[in-house]
Amino acid sequence: MEQHEVDLLIIGAGPAGATIAGEAARVGARVLAAEKRTGDSPSRAGVIQPRVLEQLDNRDLMGRFRDAAADWRPDFEIPLYMYAGLGPLRYDLLDSDYPYALVMPQTTTEHLLRAWAAEQGADIRRGLKYVSHVDEGDRVVAKLVDLEGGEHTVTAKYMVGADGAHSNVRTNAGIPFEGRENTLTAISVDADLSFPWPLGMQMNRNQHGWVLSYPFGTNTTRFIIVSEASRNIPTSVEPTLEEVKTELRKILEEEMTFTTVQRMSRYGNAHKMTPTMQKGRVFLCGESTRVHYPASGIGMNYCIQDGFNLGWKLGAVINGSADESLLDTYDSERHPVLQAMMDDVETQTTLHFDFSEGGLKLKDFVEQNLVPIPEVNNILRRRLTGFGTSYEHEGATHPANGRRVPKLPLDDGRRYGQIATTADFVLIDSAEGSRAIDTIAHGISSALPGTDGLEGAVTILVRPDGYVARAWAARPSDEDVLEARRAALQLA
Ligand SMILES: Cc1cc2nc3c(=O)[nH]c(=O)nc-3n(C[C@H](O)[C@H](O)[C@H](O)COP(=O)(O)OP(=O)(O)OC[C@H]3O[C@@H](n4cnc5c(N)ncnc54)[C@H](O)[C@@H]3O)c2cc1C
Repeated sequence: MEQHEVDLLIIGAGPAGATIAGEAARVGARVLAAEKRTGDSPSRAGVIQPRVLEQLDNRDLMGRFRDAAADWRPDFEIPLYMYAGLGPLRYDLLDSDYPYALVMPQTTTEHLLRAWAAEQGADIRRGLKYVSHVDEGDRVVAKLVDLEGGEHTVTAKYMVGADGAHSNVRTNAGIPFEGRENTLTAISVDADLSFPWPLGMQMNRNQHGWVLSYPFGTNTTRFIIVSEASRNIPTSVEPTLEEVKTELRKILEEEMTFTTVQRMSRYGNAHKMTPTMQKGRVFLCGESTRVHYPASGIGMNYCIQDGFNLGWKLGAVINGSADESLLDTYDSERHPVLQAMMDDVETQTTLHFDFSEGGLKLKDFVEQNLVPIPEVNNILRRRLTGFGTSYEHEGATHPANGRRVPKLPLDDGRRYGQIATTADFVLIDSAEGSRAIDTIAHGISSALPGTDGLEGAVTILVRPDGYVARAWAARPSDEDVLEARRAALQLA
């Protein structure tokens, strides 16, 4: 029996777990992330959304993500996106340094996040499977088993179940998972064609269904098929090549000749959520807290955003710079955001899966008359990306409080993300003036008071996950800034 003692035990090193591991380790927490898988996870998410790209930039990771994406395919930026299978959403108009979705297989995203977490000092152990745990009130004691059957006991201050939709941590913690099983299904196929896919990202629909097609690597094309004829086939029935080719022929109205089929899978719209994301010293993060239809490719992105929300808070509590009550804000901030996202997924799938005559007319109407209205387009793209997310902060009255930091060029020519890499909290003033605070990174941006979402703020203090902790309409003193930082860390 091997014994381990750490600050933070994370179960699962997928997108959510790896993000938390990096965030907590970078500020000094001793992190063990146990991942039962030794190989890659199955191919699922194909895009990283702009809000996550911004958060990666805040950790100086965008260079390596863009390089890896460029190796995968040269045209990896998607500036025109979709909502409920309808388009185009004008991501190119987002107020961001990253106004596009980045095409990248989930396996590469996971590799990059795990490598970064390990660089921060997290111990990522593959082939180590969680079995059970006991929350003893002042610590968590967990049992794990390795590939040789060796037993491990891990004692940790906190534990996170980032172990996906079938979370054993959730079950063992006794946290309910409420909602509905699959009622509708769709098919994902990655295949090599007898000709290179020439058209970039393309959507087709008719009375037989909807197909999204886009190049997924050098020679491979990904097809997402929502078919009127097969949408009631359960996920337990594997899709066949015959079924796939028949549905593609009906919807694309041309024959697809595959040379190789890389992967085929059927997935559904099960819709379930936990009523809480925390029980005692145990937290749930990512898909262990919800499952939903992967409408518009946002699921993993919300999991990574959960990870950025929880990771810095655990790190700050563990290293003693924050009060433990800060951890309660993970659930109070993320649960309403996730509930809204889940509701939005239901709205999208209701429209998306309707191929009746009326349903098709409604889609044409929405696409032709509503999506092109700039305000509507803006609302939809902010909902999908999480750009509209705002967190309440007690005692903070300025409307910019809790908002994400949008594109905010600094007067010295740097991006906001470049300064965010250098410290935990960041202070941006809109005018020069001396500051004597050495624990907070400091920048000047004369663009600040006119920036969308931050209007009227002359100074902002930003949390490690890129959200405004406090905004001021008049320049605060250094003592005001330090007091706001203490409040954001829930210190008296
Ligand atoms: C067909 C399909 C297409 C999708 N497309 C997109 C898309 O385009 N964009 C998008 O954003 N999202 C997409 N998603 C959703 C995305 O794949 C998930 O949201 C994401 O994988 C969830 O991340 P996670 O880290 O929470 O969980 P997971 O990725 O499931 O990771 C959990 C990890 O925990 C490990 N684990 C489980 N149990 C244990 C245990 N007992 N001990 C140790 N380790 C354990 C697992 O091996 C796994 O590595 C798609 C999903 C599907 C099904």
